[in-house]
Amino acid sequence: MPVDTHTKILATIGPSSATREQLSRLIDAGADAFRVNFSHGTHAEHRERIKIIRALEKEKGRLISILADLQGPKLRVGNFKEDKVLLKEGQKFTLDLDNTPGDETRVCLPHKEIFEALKPGEVLLVNDGYIALKVESCNKKSAVTTVKVGGYISSHKGVNLPNTKLNISAITEKDREDLKFALKNGVDWIGLSFVQKAEDVREIKKMVNGKARVISKLEKPSAIDDLENIIKESDGIMVARGDLGVECPIQVVPVLQKKIVKLCRLYARPVIIATQMLESMIVNPTPTRAEVSDVATAVYDGADAVMLSAETAAGKYPVQAVKMMHSIVKQVEDDPLFFELMNNSRNVPCKATEADAITFAASELAGVLKNVRAIVSYSSSGFTTFLTARERPALPILALSPDIKVARQMVLVWGVKPYVNKESFKKFNNVEDCAVKYVKEAGLAKSGDHIIITAGFPLNVKGRTNMLHTVYVS
Ligand code: PEP
Repeated sequence: MPVDTHTKILATIGPSSATREQLSRLIDAGADAFRVNFSHGTHAEHRERIKIIRALEKEKGRLISILADLQGPKLRVGNFKEDKVLLKEGQKFTLDLDNTPGDETRVCLPHKEIFEALKPGEVLLVNDGYIALKVESCNKKSAVTTVKVGGYISSHKGVNLPNTKLNISAITEKDREDLKFALKNGVDWIGLSFVQKAEDVREIKKMVNGKARVISKLEKPSAIDDLENIIKESDGIMVARGDLGVECPIQVVPVLQKKIVKLCRLYARPVIIATQMLESMIVNPTPTRAEVSDVATAVYDGADAVMLSAETAAGKYPVQAVKMMHSIVKQVEDDPLFFELMNNSRNVPCKATEADAITFAASELAGVLKNVRAIVSYSSSGFTTFLTARERPALPILALSPDIKVARQMVLVWGVKPYVNKESFKKFNNVEDCAVKYVKEAGLAKSGDHIIITAGFPLNVKGRTNMLHTVYVS
């Protein structure tokens, strides 16, 4: 059962992977975490999937992280009379608020905020950007456009407005309902789609109220404009390359990916690279060379996790896709260049807190003491574990937390193997004994090795990591 890599694999659940047997196979193939996608499926289906994952966790004796991905304000056209209609380059096409089924001259776009914000000259992209419509004239209820790039359009296709700042919240009514459901069902992470500004993140964090951690999905140019503030406000980040590649020029996406990963590392926020990583495996049993290279690049960049979307949700080869992703990750991490890159890209912590200093020092120490086998991070909130992972040490990071929710969240973080300490720690000796027990149990260290422990004193006070200790494993 692979738990042998630092970079984690997040697999999206869908019809191809929703059974107990399939989910079990995906975990055995190397999936560390699952995405429950609220853009599809019913609450009853999601409840069942979450239940299965929690049962498999027990069966396999391994914590699994669950990300509930909220749909956000995804904009879509309304219905068409026919299955699909062909829009030809140069023709006029009208978008309006009239919900009667559309044809080749018009369709409903049921979002009044769009008409309030649109200006002549702006472009609407439909169906993942395959169709481009340029606005000629518009008012509060409709817009006449010219088809710049034609193609087939059908009911409910997605619409992107790369240059239009819309006055809409990142949290819709549906998201509020889905969020309540997700929190009630004990998910670990909440994914917020179409974040535009740091305020969006503050808003959802108020609603989540500490019951999960929040991942901001970066897929809008306006989010890139407010990038640093959004990263600081979020608990984690997803580079949502699907919509990002529609809203921004596609060639900018790899540049943004590198910039976002670097900044996330600076601020110690886990970062996931998402979308089309092994896209051709939706229909083929092997990926293209370029896809393999894309996954490898994300790993060499130092991403915390790489994600599979339709490959595991709706593809023909979900288990093979996870196995393939795992083998690419393993291959890269076995390359001596990998840890050289991780080490060369370390930053001096941007804050000067005790926890920043201690976690930085833990990594330095690991480079000097040659027989150190693991860094054990005792952290009740998990934040010190984020800081430890930021250093990308060439050692496993064993995260000890008394809180199973925190431990499950840590599954998604680079290099972290989380454990829930059932024993309560009264003295530092208790932490030491427990750390030694877990590293031995996990096969990470044996008698004669050293481990490094970071913790806070007094024990069990949140946000107080101030202690660094080397321990000889007897
Ligand atoms: C994306 O757009 O890349 C993404 C991850 O979002 P979703 O799969 O929810 O469309």
